[in-house]
Amino acid sequence: MTKTLTLYNTLSRSKQLFEPIDPAQVRMYVCGPTVYDYAHIGNARPVIVFDVLFRLLRAIYGQSHVTYVRNITDVDDKINERAARDYPDAPLNEAIRKVTESTAAQFHRDVAALGCLPPTIEPRATDHIDDMRHIIERLVAGGFAYVAEGHVLFSPAAMDAKGGALARYGALANRSLDEMIAGARVDVAPYKKEATDFVLWKPSKPEEPGWPSPCGISGHGRPGWHIECSAMSWKHLGEVFDIHGGGIDLVFPHHENEVAQSTCAFGHSVMANIFMHNGFLQVEGQKMSKSLGNFITIHQLLDTQDFGGRAWPGAVLRLAMLRTHYRQPIDFTVKALEEAEATMQRWHEHDGFAALDVSNDPVPEAVIEALSDDLNTSDMIVHLHTLHKNGDKAGLKAALVFLGLYSDALAADRSHDLSDAVKAQVESLIAARIAARGQKNWAESDRLRDQLSEMGILIMDSKAADGTLVTTWEVKR
Ligand code: AMP
Ligand code: ZN
Repeated sequence: MTKTLTLYNTLSRSKQLFEPIDPAQVRMYVCGPTVYDYAHIGNARPVIVFDVLFRLLRAIYGQSHVTYVRNITDVDDKINERAARDYPDAPLNEAIRKVTESTAAQFHRDVAALGCLPPTIEPRATDHIDDMRHIIERLVAGGFAYVAEGHVLFSPAAMDAKGGALARYGALANRSLDEMIAGARVDVAPYKKEATDFVLWKPSKPEEPGWPSPCGISGHGRPGWHIECSAMSWKHLGEVFDIHGGGIDLVFPHHENEVAQSTCAFGHSVMANIFMHNGFLQVEGQKMSKSLGNFITIHQLLDTQDFGGRAWPGAVLRLAMLRTHYRQPIDFTVKALEEAEATMQRWHEHDGFAALDVSNDPVPEAVIEALSDDLNTSDMIVHLHTLHKNGDKAGLKAALVFLGLYSDALAADRSHDLSDAVKAQVESLIAARIAARGQKNWAESDRLRDQLSEMGILIMDSKAADGTLVTTWEVKR
């Protein structure tokens, strides 16, 4: 492997060389959606960013040597509330299933339209309750967690008291436990020993979703959010894996707590070697939030006229996101979408672009190199412009396909709209080919057919009633 990949690691607060634990099986986990409502365009950012990283890792280490796990959180109190609100007459478990299934299906449609590949594995929290119980039992047995009033709570203070090879609580977020204890609110739940203790398991009321509780607690309960990711990443990627990702808001407490749980349960100093976090997306200079009324879902952007008075192609949204480096905040504007669309149209404008078969063309090296520098997508875009300027159609299309930025619709619209000059050229090449066949010059006839094919033109031969050759043509789809 000659390529070097550097990634910014939140753990070390620096860019570092990526060295997979096993290059034959590179392992990445990204926290996925909690499925109770439409995903908004901020949620789309980590999905797009880590899809680009997934594609890059596959290019470097081989398609079958990368495992990308992105979970679906389908146990959460927000889901319970939504289910009770939307299906007041259905039993809660049935209502929850309706909410989670329809939201997950919508999420899949949305992110597919944004050019994202499905992850290798997409585990659901409800399929891993046994694994969560297993980790919780280990944490209690190890003295890192305790049972109180039907809850199981993780104790960061106990983790730090053990010390040794274990991570320090707060190392990821760069905070000290003493500060956190001092800064904690006073109205702490009475069953907690310390304000910083967090829930691994909590009791469920009879009408709430629940599973048999761990640690000898009687009655049913349900997991806390953080333990879900520790269980699913462990089950599918092992005790220590290569890359863990998500948005910057997940650093604390979610990822800090995942690290605490996984390292204490399995006795390693790290959960993942590299933690990567994307910056936040703002809309027209403001934090995107429901209360400000500037909350835009992916579905609204793609399928309605709610943003800028029109619907936008998924590839345009994807390019608009990738113009900003993933660690920077994005200011999302109609103008940015318009600019991305104009760029996309220029890139797709070559005649015959839709029909060009690039399945055997390599992705241009400069594109891989730019991405290998901590996903430098702005540099990568400069290289796409260069490929376009140089008329390297195959290189440009191979790059766009690789990046999930190629759009059949954009390219096909263009070639349907062939200029009269191109049509005249097609007709004259066909006439030349008929003449060549009349002279039994098969090599020349084949060459002309190939030339037409390269222009994206498919020709079809048939015989007229009098036996003469008739050739018709169409733009390849
Ligand atoms: P949530 O459903 O809130 O857990 O978020 C799912 C993912 O989207 C997480 O990785 C979040 O960090 C990320 N995310 C949420 N809001 C934004 C935003 N405005 N900009 C970028 N990423 C976000
Ligand atoms: Zn997570």
